[in-house]
Amino acid sequence: MAERDFYDVLGVARDASDAEISKAYRKLAKKYHPDLNHEPGADKKYKDVNEAYEVLHDSQKRAQYDQYGKAGMNGQGGFGNQGFGGANGQYGDFSDIFNNFFGGAGQRQNIDPTAPRPGEDLEYTLTIDFMDAIKGKKEQVSYSRDEVCATCGGNGCEPGTHPLTCDKCHGTGRMTVTRQSILGVMQQQVVCDKCQGHGAIRVHPCQTCHGKGSINRKNTIEVDVPAGINDGQQLRYSGQGEAGENGGPYGDLYISYRIRPSKEFQRRNTTIYSTVKISFAQAALGDEIKVKTVHGDHSLKIPAGTQPETKFTLSNEGVPYLRGNGRGDHLVTVDILIPKKLNDGQKQALTAYVKASGDSVTPQEKNFFERLRDKLS
Ligand SMILES: [Zn+2]
Ligand SMILES: [Zn+2]
Repeated sequence: MAERDFYDVLGVARDASDAEISKAYRKLAKKYHPDLNHEPGADKKYKDVNEAYEVLHDSQKRAQYDQYGKAGMNGQGGFGNQGFGGANGQYGDFSDIFNNFFGGAGQRQNIDPTAPRPGEDLEYTLTIDFMDAIKGKKEQVSYSRDEVCATCGGNGCEPGTHPLTCDKCHGTGRMTVTRQSILGVMQQQVVCDKCQGHGAIRVHPCQTCHGKGSINRKNTIEVDVPAGINDGQQLRYSGQGEAGENGGPYGDLYISYRIRPSKEFQRRNTTIYSTVKISFAQAALGDEIKVKTVHGDHSLKIPAGTQPETKFTLSNEGVPYLRGNGRGDHLVTVDILIPKKLNDGQKQALTAYVKASGDSVTPQEKNFFERLRDKLS
């Protein structure tokens, strides 16, 4: 049986960003979670979704998968259960994220509408400068979220009063109605019209939150931009999402990083790429030049006889690794400049060069338009 493509499993395009992948994953994991979905085949789908996510949310594994397919993933010790792995414990791993979505085992038989439920997760896109992603920094982030009402502590009742179990649905939030249809008498479960599905009645609703138990507020937190973070990556800040219901914990906040491109440097994972222009004479005779790296100027020896498009590697001058010590490399591509205009001295020297090479050339005078273009360029 042919295995399904990981991108198809998550229903995302092959060029989907990390944020899109995480979003699709969260949606599907919730949909097929065995505690929430009892349809036949849901557990298999749930497994497939997790397998796809573990590969696609890890840039290294994803690159391998893109190149070699599933076969390329073997020999890596299987799909490791590694998340972002940070020393400060903020970068939770997969099971961690998972427990937060579903509130762990406590959520298991949670069909009781009055039982605690964790709040929704939020996503915040943080756009940062190219160099900040390499050096790392802290950033203040403000966003609005529902916070537990301080007046009632989240139960939606005036202080001193408590929610009462709805007497119509006995706290289930649902009621069974009997309907006469052309197929006969049918029974149907509907939301309780007395408590609107909450299972509880607030006789004296809290005046601050009007019985909702939460208030929308601006929340400001300090967010880490770790040195080496890449475009599309996410970090989770636990408890910074929406307030839970019925005393459940807060959801999490996902910071999705977007990185502005640089004019001087290109970046792929931890490797930096740049181009340096040298003269024909420097390429032919060799020279020592200064190359700008993300960590400052670096000297580079150009050997005699360097050809156009030659690439030089400046080891450890690239992007810091997010995990562990060390950095990637910086690859410099040499661009050899051919002078557009020559003065008399240069002309004579080149003529002598041609002679010494035993060649003969017929120099072409530039026409009016070519001279004009040179002037303007
Ligand atoms: Zn309140
Ligand atoms: Zn009710």
